[in-house]
Amino acid sequence: MSSEISVYDVVIVGFGPSGAAAANAAGGLGLHTLVIERDLAIFERQRAIALDDEALRVIRGLGLYDEVTAHMHLGVTARFVGLDGKPFLATPAEPTAYTGHSLTNFFHQPSLERALRDGLKRYAAVEIKAGWTAQFVDQDSDGVTLRLGNDDGDRRDVRAQYVLACDGGSSSLRKQLGVAFAGTSYAEQWIDVQALVKRPLHRDPHFDFVCSPDRPGVRCPCPGGYYRWEWRVNPGEDAEAMLDEDNVWKLLAEEGVTPDDVDIARTWSYTFHVRKAQQWRVGRVLLLGDAAHVMPPFAGQGISGAFRDAANVVWKLEAVVRGRASDDLLDTYQTEREPHHDAMTHRAVTFGRIVMTSNHTIARLRDRAFRAATKIPGVMAALLRRFGAPTPLGPGCLRARDGGTHWSDT
Ligand SMILES: Cc1cc2nc3c(=O)[nH]c(=O)nc-3n(C[C@H](O)[C@H](O)[C@H](O)COP(=O)(O)OP(=O)(O)OC[C@H]3O[C@@H](n4cnc5c(N)ncnc54)[C@H](O)[C@@H]3O)c2cc1C
Repeated sequence: MSSEISVYDVVIVGFGPSGAAAANAAGGLGLHTLVIERDLAIFERQRAIALDDEALRVIRGLGLYDEVTAHMHLGVTARFVGLDGKPFLATPAEPTAYTGHSLTNFFHQPSLERALRDGLKRYAAVEIKAGWTAQFVDQDSDGVTLRLGNDDGDRRDVRAQYVLACDGGSSSLRKQLGVAFAGTSYAEQWIDVQALVKRPLHRDPHFDFVCSPDRPGVRCPCPGGYYRWEWRVNPGEDAEAMLDEDNVWKLLAEEGVTPDDVDIARTWSYTFHVRKAQQWRVGRVLLLGDAAHVMPPFAGQGISGAFRDAANVVWKLEAVVRGRASDDLLDTYQTEREPHHDAMTHRAVTFGRIVMTSNHTIARLRDRAFRAATKIPGVMAALLRRFGAPTPLGPGCLRARDGGTHWSDT
C-alpha cells in the first residue's frame, strides 16, 4: 500500500449521474475534488430516460445545457393509454412557467453521462480515478479516510474534508456507515427491450404508458435512434423465458414491429424499489442519488432527484469548507430535499398504480373518469398542480420552521 496520503476538499465515490453532476458543481466552485469510479468505462446501457424541467435548470447551472440537450428530445408528451388504445391522460409538452423548461425531456443515459464527464475537462482541480473501488475507513473531526483498491492489487488511502457517496442503490459506503435503507421492493418484474431503429416506424412520437390490465407496458422513442419497450412479467411467467429472442420478436410483432424495422440492442429484466436512507448525512459523509433514495421509474425522477441532490449540497459544502458557514448547514440538505423526494415518490407510486390497474372493470372506470374529469375546466390544471408542479421548498437553510428566513453561518 502506498504510504503517501493525498488530501482533498471532497472525494466523490461513484461516477454515475449523481457523482458526475456533483463533480461538475464542485469543479465550478474550485473545490479540490477526487472522483473514484469502480468501472473503467461508462455503463453503455440505457436505464433512465427522463429529465424534468428542474433537472434541466440544474444542467444549465452547471454550464452544460447545450452539450447535454444536443443529444435529447425536449418537450415530450407522456400519455396514459387506456383499454381502447387511446390516451385518457397526457402531460403537456409546453415549458412550465416556473422554470421555462418542459416537464418531460428524454435523454440517452450513456450520452448524458459522457457530456457530464466531458464537462469536467474545464476543471483542473477535479481528478478522476476510474477502475478503483473506495471503502470507508473512518472519520474524525478533521476529515474522512477512504481506502482505494484496484484489480491489480494496488491499495492507497486518501483523506477528504467531506465525502459524497454517489455509489448507487446498493451503496457500500451507506452499508459501511450502518445506515438503514428502509422501504419495500415490488413483487412484479418487468422486462425491457432496447432496439436500434433501421427504418421509420411511423408511430406517434410520444411516450406511452400502455395501461392494460392484461399486460401493462411502455413504448418509448428514444434519442440516438433507439426505441424502447417494457412489459410487466405476469404472475406465473418467467422473466428469463420472456427475454428469449423468439419471444421478444413475438411481443414486438404484437406492436407491428418486425426484424426489418429494428435490431434488438439489449434486453434485461428488473424490479422496482421504494427505499430511502434514514440519514442522508453521517458526519462528513453525505449520500446522494440512488445511494440515498430509490423509487419506481414511473415518474422519471431517479436522475432528476440526483441532480437536485447535487445542486442542493455542493454549494453548502463549499461554504463550509471555506469557513463561511458552520457544518450545521449540511443538515439542511436532508430537511430540504426529503419532503420533495417523498412527494416525487408518491407521484411515481400513484402513476404506477394507474398503469398497473389489474381489474378490467376498474380500468374501464379509470379511463372514463380521467376523460370526463379532464374536460371540466380547471381539473387538468389541478392535476398538474398536484403531479406536475414542483413541491415548495420546506424548512431548511433559507426557510425556517416558522416560515421566516434564516441562514446558518459561523
Ligand atoms: C429500468 C430503469 C428505468 C429507469 N428510468 C428512469 C427514468 O426514466 N428517469 C430517471 O431519472 N431515472 C430512472 N431510473 C433510475 C436511474 O437510472 C438512477 O436513479 C440513476 O442511474 C442513479 O444515478 P446514481 O449516480 O445515483 O447511481 P448509479 O447510476 O448506480 O451510479 C453509481 C456509480 O457508482 C459506482 N460505484 C459503486 N460502488 C462504488 C465504490 N465502492 N467505489 C467506486 N465506485 C463505485 C458504480 O460503478 C456506478 O458507476 C431508472 C432505472 C432503471 C433500472
